Amino acid sequence: MARIIDGKALAAETTEKVAAHARKLAEDGIVPGLAVVLVGEDPASQVYVGAKSKRAKECGFHSVQHDLAADTPENELLELIARLNDDPAIHGILVQLPLPAQIDPDRVIQAIAPEKDVDGFHYMNVGMVATGSAAKAFVPCTPAGAMLMIERELGRDLSGKNAVVIGRSNIVGKPMASLLLAANATVTIAHSRTADLPEIARSADILVAAVGRPEMVRGDWIKPGATVIDVGINRVDAPERGEGKTRLVGDVAFAEAEKTAGAITPVPGGVGPMTIAMLMANTLASACRAAGLPAPSL
Ligand code: NAP
Repeated sequence: MARIIDGKALAAETTEKVAAHARKLAEDGIVPGLAVVLVGEDPASQVYVGAKSKRAKECGFHSVQHDLAADTPENELLELIARLNDDPAIHGILVQLPLPAQIDPDRVIQAIAPEKDVDGFHYMNVGMVATGSAAKAFVPCTPAGAMLMIERELGRDLSGKNAVVIGRSNIVGKPMASLLLAANATVTIAHSRTADLPEIARSADILVAAVGRPEMVRGDWIKPGATVIDVGINRVDAPERGEGKTRLVGDVAFAEAEKTAGAITPVPGGVGPMTIAMLMANTLASACRAAGLPAPSL
């Protein structure tokens, strides 16, 4: 049976390291600042934003949350971003997606100063990650967390390993592939137009699923001993828990895959908790860079 990679424990360890470093910075009067912006009242976004602001406070950061009405015009949001860009107390700016229809998310993301773009979505950061300069960039938090898990399992040098990433989104699949490539893995990116996906998946020493289709990756897609990172978060009906109940599952059929994999992340409790931890790490790194100090290694 596969070793279960405990994302909650690694996220707690990472957050504690961030908080400890923030305490040291505070002795020199440096306090990392994170501004989280929510437009509208989407319940899932409210939960995510609340969790990010709370975790930032727990890390000892200066944490501000801007809740804007759903009908906020784009120029008002852009003005807020301009103010946050100019505010020396703010080192990280995060605008929660999705945004209401009247706002162009791309225009908003590109308006964030690259050196405060702790989500890693600005073209400058995307370009640095894609050209192998991730150490100088902000790496998007979910693939950054997944990569930390892979490093803990297999080390920092993945020479000779085949990695397959299923999914090519800008938020997860593409940056994940760049990080694996930079660590010397041989990388295949699969997507909805890929032929014979199970066969390709079976070649993977490292299999990352970032698709959004419940339990699509079956047990017989897994190479014996592979490290399986399940990024998917899918809510499915769970009538066995009672009428109208639901539960979360990943993109990997966990009960099947854990029989063959060497190590595997569960859902929930795997990649999910790492995302906020890496946001804290990016904000800390931003504060360090602004002060001309090296960012701590995790
Ligand atoms: P996305 O933007 O919808 O991208 C999904 C990718 O999966 C696309 O590249 C798509 O291919 C591919 N795909 C769809 N159906 C497929 C199929 N049948 N076979 C192979 N590939 C297929 O999703 P995302 O934002 O990357 O998120 C992926 C999953 O990760 C979701 O479940 C999401 O909830 C989860 N997620 C979790 C976290 C976290 O843990 N904190 C963060 C972000 C996302 P095409 O490009 O060809 O359409």
